[in-house]
Amino acid sequence: AKSEPERHVCLFNVEMDQQSREKLVLINDLRQACGNGEFELVYQIQNDLQTLDPVGFEVLLRWNHPTRGRVSPGEFIPIAEETGLIREIGLWVLRTACFEATSWPEPFSIAVNVAPQQLVQPSFLEHVSDILMETRLPPERLELEVTEASIIDDQAHTLRVMHKLKKMGIRIAMDDFGTGYSSLATLQTFPFDKIKIDRSFVQDVHKDQQRAAIVRSTLLLGAALNIPVLAEGVEMEDELTFLRAENCSAVQGFYFGKPMRRDQLHEVFAKPDRK
Ligand code: C2E
Ligand code: CA
Ligand code: CA
Ligand code: CA
Repeated sequence: AKSEPERHVCLFNVEMDQQSREKLVLINDLRQACGNGEFELVYQIQNDLQTLDPVGFEVLLRWNHPTRGRVSPGEFIPIAEETGLIREIGLWVLRTACFEATSWPEPFSIAVNVAPQQLVQPSFLEHVSDILMETRLPPERLELEVTEASIIDDQAHTLRVMHKLKKMGIRIAMDDFGTGYSSLATLQTFPFDKIKIDRSFVQDVHKDQQRAAIVRSTLLLGAALNIPVLAEGVEMEDELTFLRAENCSAVQGFYFGKPMRRDQLHEVFAKPDRK
């Protein structure tokens, strides 16, 4: 009877070992992925909600692993952040996306996710300005998406960086709004040009009273602070109708399109009904 708990401990350790070994392998693979050309960017359309015209794209990272196939960002982005690899990867995303966006017709802008470690990196501003020079992308067409996690670490520093980005003409969006802790204070302190309501509140918003209340108050808040609000993860016509009636500014989600490869984008640009 005495040996029972020990056997459990033993099994547990073996399992943990296997898990951390797998993780180490993944970290190693991730380290080489950039140089091996295993990363790919996809683009998801964003539409103005009054005109329904497409106005821009958010760029999303994909990893085509040589043996595992596609690894989802939900799996590898946290590892890239833990290991600091996100700085190199994020820079590649920014440069590649800006370069891609220079070939898009006029009103289309590009939104790029920026991880917390990128924003606090001393060389971040220099990298961004170099990339704008290299690619000749007008800064007005670049939007950086930051989450609340980017802000809580060193508020004073983050605020300085954000003001400098704004001075360069770049727009800044608050991503995943509503999922953090200090959203209201944050909106007052930091110079955001856009609020993105998280998908978890948008899903079924037309039939869920609580989500409807959260979305409505976010829209009121945006109106009061004069910050346009984009709703993420719109999948259904009913959600869209609700958001439109409540004067939401813009939308993004599978209803309008799944993330697309670069060679599919011309279909959007070629639409004759585009204003
Ligand atoms: P996010 O920034 O909130 O991006 C939106 C995610 O929601 C994307 O997932 C997108 O494919 C998904 N989505 C959009 N519309 C719908 C919809 O109608 N229904 C559903 N079910 N999902 C929808 P994805 O591409 O898997 O990315 C997940 C997260 O990984 C992103 O969340 C972002 O936090 C992170 N990520 C992706 N690319 C990058 C990157 O280049 N840099 C950094 N730092 N993070 C990235
Ligand atoms: Ca985002
Ligand atoms: Ca988001
Ligand atoms: Ca999200």
